[in-house]
Amino acid sequence: MQVLIVGGGLVGLSTALFLAHQGVRSVVIEKHAGTSLHPRARGFHSRTLELLRSTCAGAEVEQAGSVPAGTVVGELVAVTLAGPVHSWKTRTVSTQRTDVSPCPYVFLGQDRLDPILLEAARSQGVEVRFRHELTGFTQDARGVRATVLDRESGTVSTVEAAYLVGADGVRSPVREALGIALGGRGSFGHNISTLFDADLSLVQREAPLAFAVLTHPEVGGVIAATDVKDRWIHATRIDVSREMAEDFTEARWTERLRTVTGNADLKPTLHGTFVWEAAERVAERFGSGRVFLAGDAAHQMPPTGGFGANTGIHDAANLAWKLTAVLNGHADPALLESYDAERRPVAAATAAP
Ligand SMILES: Cc1cc2nc3c(=O)[nH]c(=O)nc-3n(C[C@H](O)[C@H](O)[C@H](O)COP(=O)(O)OP(=O)(O)OC[C@H]3O[C@@H](n4cnc5c(N)ncnc54)[C@H](O)[C@@H]3O)c2cc1C
Repeated sequence: MQVLIVGGGLVGLSTALFLAHQGVRSVVIEKHAGTSLHPRARGFHSRTLELLRSTCAGAEVEQAGSVPAGTVVGELVAVTLAGPVHSWKTRTVSTQRTDVSPCPYVFLGQDRLDPILLEAARSQGVEVRFRHELTGFTQDARGVRATVLDRESGTVSTVEAAYLVGADGVRSPVREALGIALGGRGSFGHNISTLFDADLSLVQREAPLAFAVLTHPEVGGVIAATDVKDRWIHATRIDVSREMAEDFTEARWTERLRTVTGNADLKPTLHGTFVWEAAERVAERFGSGRVFLAGDAAHQMPPTGGFGANTGIHDAANLAWKLTAVLNGHADPALLESYDAERRPVAAATAAP
């Protein structure tokens, strides 16, 4: 195998896709049973779309996430969605800056993007093995040997590859194994989100709500629209030293959402809960030898501004063309050193305030 990719999130899948389009074979291993269920990233910038346009996924991503020109949305700061209102402003969503890019900005949840990337990668011959977990690896001058656990059957196998890409998220076992430290300002605290379906038309104003900051002393947090009609995210702070996701039962969320919306009869359909940390952490190196880090494994960014996933896909594109050039014998392996030199400063600058 030419490249082993650890992590089947959007960065691992994009890396595989960019490589496949340049004729490089890769295998993706992902410890979970499928792609992300939560729409964490929801906005993808023109530059990301330009890169994806070089693959067979580009047109489908543009189509799936396109926003009609002139769409107006509202942003609210209030005690609850029902008021009292501190501020309300509307803005026109600019989806196409033809002066800077031929590609639009797209509004598309990661839960819908990942399956598009997955199918595109598979259509190009990429093997994606779900429920397969990296448990260790070694490397030498000839390549990388990884041990992989099949979580369904319990069997352990060895995968040999010329290079390994750790696209294995914020906890990154690959980064840990390489002993690469993290810099940056660290944690800004934990949050808990629920994804829910509900008709919130009663609390809508003259434009559809895109985002609300709620200052209620007990149920404060944010409400964010998703790209699916009547599907919303509610996020609030959680003190993980005192509470766990399991403490947020369906009854507790429902009660909370009734207060948040000011609708005592609200019957939300809940689609699960997840805890996440807002943090700024950047790896001190983006790889070692034949092993590279990409995406959240290399840089964790607070969600403000929506840069984590976009930056990760840009890492994937940068690394893929360099691996291709080296594997095809068109460039000296020293070219791969430029991945860290080019991408780490970008990640640090993007993650910083
Ligand atoms: C609330 C929230 C909102 C966000 N909004 C935005 C936004 O609007 N725009 C934006 O650009 N970004 C946003 N982000 C950030 C974005 O979600 C991340 O940057 C992105 O998911 C990173 O993708 P990734 O593939 O690097 O990591 P992940 O999506 O975390 O994928 C890593 C994968 O590796 C797998 N894995 C880990 N260890 C192993 C192992 N040993 N073996 C096999 N597999 C393994 C994991 O199971 C996981 O599936 C947001 C994040 C949050 C939390």
